[in-house]
Amino acid sequence: MAARRIDGKAAGQAIRDQVAALVAEFTRSTGRAPGLATVLVGEDPASAVYVRSKNRATAEAGMVSFAHNLPDTTSEDELLHLVTELNADPKVDGILVQLPLPAQIDATRVIETIEPGKDVDGFHPMNAGRLASGLPSLVPCTPFGCLYLLKQELGDLTGLEAVVVGRSNIVGKPMAQLLLNENCTVTIAHSRTRDLSAVVRRTDIVVAAVGRAEMVRGDWIKPGATVIDVGINRVPTDDGKGRLVGDVAYDEAAEVAAAITPVPGGVGPMTIAMLMRNTLVAAHRRAGLADPEGL
Ligand code: NAP
Repeated sequence: MAARRIDGKAAGQAIRDQVAALVAEFTRSTGRAPGLATVLVGEDPASAVYVRSKNRATAEAGMVSFAHNLPDTTSEDELLHLVTELNADPKVDGILVQLPLPAQIDATRVIETIEPGKDVDGFHPMNAGRLASGLPSLVPCTPFGCLYLLKQELGDLTGLEAVVVGRSNIVGKPMAQLLLNENCTVTIAHSRTRDLSAVVRRTDIVVAAVGRAEMVRGDWIKPGATVIDVGINRVPTDDGKGRLVGDVAYDEAAEVAAAITPVPGGVGPMTIAMLMRNTLVAAHRRAGLADPEGL
């Protein structure tokens, strides 16, 4: 059996098209376009690529992008000062500070300084707590994108057994909360989990967010399961360029699963699409409007 390949690129583009249409409506009714401020500290090439594509997607959706690129010598106080200014700027609906930050800056302090209503990454403890309490919040983009793909694939998730491998604040924990809110029975696995393959083998949904190339093997997968691979790992190739692989051994798992996301082209494009969605939602809430329907 060959699993269905879940097309995150197509799903992400559909969301971005929907957001663009709703941005036009928002702009007509309020007289201004939603704005997203990105903050990049330092010159990490991967972070620079991510931030550039976020700024491009913002403009393509008809929103305003405010790009702040700071040197890697920026102090914590300087960055906190900029975040405070962005909090107060009425043109800015969303603030995204690209992680990781240089060693002299405490990322937790920066995240806690972002106004929760503008926290489009959904990392502020207020948003994390509201998500855990089942209250409206801004939800971290990557797990939100994973949930969207799962619901598109499976419809109602009620009663399904799910495992999330990885317990980071950015992916694993919010993913588990989202699945719990959908009435799944959720296991959170991590580096201290005993007999991980047996834990994974009993579940209908597997979300792998570990950061270890092809760790989840085909014989860990329950036949007919749906597999979401969050991992992005570069492995060496003979030509020296390297190749991106996920946390799941795709070819093996595709023999057993019912559906699986590829890397690249699975979860990655959903992350940016959900950032656009969160910025639009933040703009609606700040303008005192109801959340846009259908997103
Ligand atoms: P992270 O903060 O490094 O967390 C990794 C998690 O995996 C930790 O909870 C760790 O457990 C667990 N882990 C490590 N080794 C393990 C093992 N041998 N068995 C079981 N669990 C293990 O990483 P992250 O930020 O969540 O990201 C995870 C992956 O997703 C990375 O490859 C990252 O590049 C990718 N990612 C992709 C996107 C996207 O847009 N597609 C977005 C974000 C992240 P402990 O807690 O016990 O240490």
